[in-house]
Amino acid sequence: MERKEQMQNYDLIAIGGGSGGLAAAQRAADYGKKVAVIEQGALGGTCVNVGCVPKKIMWEAAGIAHSHAYAKGYGFAAEPVSHDWAALKESRDAYIRRLNGIYASNLAGRNIEVITGSAVLEDSHTVVVAGETYTADEFVIATGGTPSIPNIPGADLGITSDGFFELEQRPQRVALVGSGYIAVELAGMLRALGSDVSLFVRYDSVLRSFDELMQSSVIEALESEGIALHRNSVPAGLASTDAGLVLATGNGQDHGPFDTLIWAIGREPRSRDIGLEQAGIDCDSRGFVITDKYQNTSAANIYAIGDITGCAALTPVAIAAGRRLSDRLYGGMTDRHLNYDNIPSVVFTHPPVGTCGLTEQQARDRFGDDIKVYVSEFVPLFNSMTVSKLKSRMKLITTGSDEKVVGIHLFGLGSDEMLQGFAVAMQMGATRQHFDDTVAIHPTSAEELVTMK
Ligand code: FAD
Ligand code: NDP
Repeated sequence: MERKEQMQNYDLIAIGGGSGGLAAAQRAADYGKKVAVIEQGALGGTCVNVGCVPKKIMWEAAGIAHSHAYAKGYGFAAEPVSHDWAALKESRDAYIRRLNGIYASNLAGRNIEVITGSAVLEDSHTVVVAGETYTADEFVIATGGTPSIPNIPGADLGITSDGFFELEQRPQRVALVGSGYIAVELAGMLRALGSDVSLFVRYDSVLRSFDELMQSSVIEALESEGIALHRNSVPAGLASTDAGLVLATGNGQDHGPFDTLIWAIGREPRSRDIGLEQAGIDCDSRGFVITDKYQNTSAANIYAIGDITGCAALTPVAIAAGRRLSDRLYGGMTDRHLNYDNIPSVVFTHPPVGTCGLTEQQARDRFGDDIKVYVSEFVPLFNSMTVSKLKSRMKLITTGSDEKVVGIHLFGLGSDEMLQGFAVAMQMGATRQHFDDTVAIHPTSAEELVTMK
């Protein structure tokens, strides 16, 4: 006890300087609290350094490649253009370094101390970083996750999304393994920038937690771009040969050779070796920290937010949970917490997918026959002048006599920017009548959502 009194004591220490930890720390400091953030890597965490931000830059580059491919239809000379991957990486890295600096200044501006190194909790009030001990009245665990690698022979010969962002040159022959967000996003970007891409999925579809209309639409888009989709292909081993990497799948086939194989099969929580058990924090069987709706863990003064909790692993979710937590702890908002329903999300394929609320199957499971489903498919005006006639597809799901909107699923140009406003409408409890009563904006794709029959 005497020893602890001599140490720096904080009101709040955030373990992890990513989306969630920074949000909770900054909001706590705004309430006048004495706060520190412990970060072992670069400020900003996954999103800024090896996630959303560099990914979106690559998606924009791929979009420019697509635009160039379509430009002829609009009267432009379709001269072949080259793409300088290394130059893009250099400017992308420089942009991220600038963001790291902005994050550091924002913390300094709020008098938040940044402690550099790996945190290990000693007990529920004490943490050790690089041999130094710090105490706090409260901790927020926001340590995020790391990409999963399968436990099969040769798996280390592959890379993950982290390695993708380190590539100095674009690999020509690429295998992607996985069927979620990262697999389809990276497959699309690499293909658009000129790589030969093979995508290996364990079952017969991609994005299997999404509405079926989104799954089939994305598959159509990936295949129309020339991505080779290998269904029912369970990875069994990876070997290095003179010609390149060869992937063996459970159905007895060998695939390749490839220059690069990217595992995109989900992420593991970063909950090991950080002393959670010493602090009395319970995890589930996969290692995610168990929390209630207030982000409370099993330790009275310790909270957890973001990817480490295994709930909706998205940046705005981590930020929202972190800010609400500090509002509750230090802002007198005793019931403030994040509602995890109706979280909008976009998959950055070309074109993108936007989704909010229940899939048709989830709505049927919850409401039985008391649902109505409206679907629209159309070739967007943009594609009237292009070789590609890929259709946009939209689905609206309602329930009850007032036809409350419980699901919106969008696939097509502009879905990424379109969804946010519709998510607000859902949050407010919009019904089909509200949609019908809204005057359309013409000519747009979004107008389809308010003119559905
Ligand atoms: P993180 O951002 O992972 O931060 C955790 C931090 O804790 C890290 O900086 C880590 O170094 C640090 N840390 C861990 N252990 C310790 C320790 N013991 N001591 C000190 N520090 C520690 N989400 C979106 O919403 N939109 C997107 O477009 C999107 N794209 C993505 C693309 C990719 C390739 C990936 C991988 C993810 C993407 N995500 C996206 C998800 C998003 O990045 C995460 O949901 C978000 O970063 C989670 O924030 P977090 O604070 O929980 O964890
Ligand atoms: P996901 O959870 O989205 O998808 C991974 C999928 O890979 C699984 O659902 C599973 O699908 C498949 N899989 C699992 N294990 C294996 C295996 N051993 N072999 C082959 N396939 C396997 O994870 P991601 O890694 O794509 O992304 C992690 C999270 O990051 C996402 O869930 C999302 O929350 C976030 N993210 C968000 C983005 C965005 O907002 N745009 C972009 C990127 C990431 P199946 O059961 O069909 O085989």
